[in-house]
Amino acid sequence: MEKQGQKGGRLLLVPCPFQGHINKMLQLGSVLHSKGFSITKFLAQMISHQDPSHPQFSCIIYDEVMYFCPAVANHFKLPSIMFRTCSATTFLVRALIPNLHLQGCLPLPDSILQDPVPEHYPLRFKDLPITKFGSEEQNLRLMANLFNTEKSSAIIFNTVDCLEQSSLAIIQHQKQLPIFPVGPMHKLAPNSTSSILEEDTSCIAWLDKQARNSVTYISLGSIASMDAKELEEMAWGQANSKQPFVWVIRSSQKISPEWIESFTKDFKNSVGERGCIMRLAPQRQVLAHDAVGGFWTHCGWNSTLESICEGVPMICRPCFGDQNVTARYVSQVWRVGWQYENELERGEIEKIVLRLMVEEEGKEMRKRARGLKHVVEASIDDGGPSCNSLNELVEFIMSS
Ligand code: UDP
Repeated sequence: MEKQGQKGGRLLLVPCPFQGHINKMLQLGSVLHSKGFSITKFLAQMISHQDPSHPQFSCIIYDEVMYFCPAVANHFKLPSIMFRTCSATTFLVRALIPNLHLQGCLPLPDSILQDPVPEHYPLRFKDLPITKFGSEEQNLRLMANLFNTEKSSAIIFNTVDCLEQSSLAIIQHQKQLPIFPVGPMHKLAPNSTSSILEEDTSCIAWLDKQARNSVTYISLGSIASMDAKELEEMAWGQANSKQPFVWVIRSSQKISPEWIESFTKDFKNSVGERGCIMRLAPQRQVLAHDAVGGFWTHCGWNSTLESICEGVPMICRPCFGDQNVTARYVSQVWRVGWQYENELERGEIEKIVLRLMVEEEGKEMRKRARGLKHVVEASIDDGGPSCNSLNELVEFIMSS
C-alpha cells in the first residue's frame, strides 16, 4: 500500500495489528502524506530488501508495540520514531510497574489499592495500568520493551498538550528526546478510514428524531465487554431511567451471539422506540450528533478523545489497563465525567444516568465538556500547539 507525496522523503509506517492502533497509524500516514511525504504501510518484507547503500526509506515510524523496529532501523542506519497511540500519562506510569515488582508489591496488596501514587496525582495504585493478561514475567518484559526508547529518535503522541502537559514535560525530561504531541489525530485526518468492520448507520436517522442532548450513547469499544449479569443490570438501569439511548452490544467470550440475540429482542420489546441497539455504531458521527448528551464509556483513549472533541460528558466505567488511568483523568483532572466504580446495579445506573442527563449537575458537566472541546479544537488550528508540533515533526523528519 503506497501513497506518493511530492517534497518529503518516503516513510515506512509499521502499525500494530489491532483496529484502534491501525486506525491511528492510517490517520498519521494521511496527515504526513498531506505534508508531502510518500508513505509505505504494512510492507514488512520491504525493509529486509533495503540496500543499505541506497536507502529507500528516510524514516521508520512504528507503533510502540512493534518495539523491534528501532533495532532494524539502526541496522539500516535509518532514524526511527515511536508512535504512541494511547495517552502520555499511561506511557509514563507504566514505567512504575517493573519497580513495584522489584519491591515485591505485585500483585498489589489490597491495603494500598486506594493509596495515591506519589507524584502522580490523581492516580491511586488501583488505577495503574497493570495488565491481567498473560504471565507476570511476560508482562514485565513487555513493559520494559515498551518504555525503552534508547534507539528511537523521537516520540509522537496522539494527545494534546493542554490535556497532558505535566506528563509530557516529565517524559521530555526523562527521555531527553524530541516529543511531538500531535493529537487528536482523528480531527487532523477526518476523512481517513475509521473502521475495518461495517458500521450500522441506521442510528443516525433515529437520533435525528430525538431532542437535543437527550440521548446517552453506550459503548465499551472493541475489546472490553460485560457479562450477562452486568448487561441485564445495565439494560434495566437504562430502561428505568426513561431516557433515550444508543447502545452498542457485541458478543464476546463472556456471552454468545445467540444469548445476545435473544436478550436484545426481549429488551427492544420492553423499551420500544426509546432504545436503539446495534453491534457497531459510527461512533464519531454519533458523538457529534446534537441529540447525544452523554457517553457511557470504558474510557479507551480513542473514545475519550472523540468524546472530548465533541464536548460530550462521560460516565466512565473502565475495564482494564490504561482505561483506569484515563477514567481518573476524565473525572478528576479535566472534570468532564464521573467514574462509576461499584458493581453494576440497576438502581445505581439509573441514578447516574439521570444525574448526567437530567439534573443540574449534569448540565454543569456538559458546559465544562463544551469548554474543553473548544480548547482542544483550538490546538489543531493554525498556531495551536498540536499544529505547531506537527510542523516541527515534519521539519524533524526532513532534517534527520
Ligand atoms: N468504535 C466505533 N464504533 C463502535 C465502537 C467503537 O467506531 O461501535 C471506534 C471508536 O470510535 C474508537 C475505537 O473504535 O475510535 C475504539 O477505540 P478505543 O481506544 O476507545 O477503545 P478500544 O477498542 O481500543 O478498547
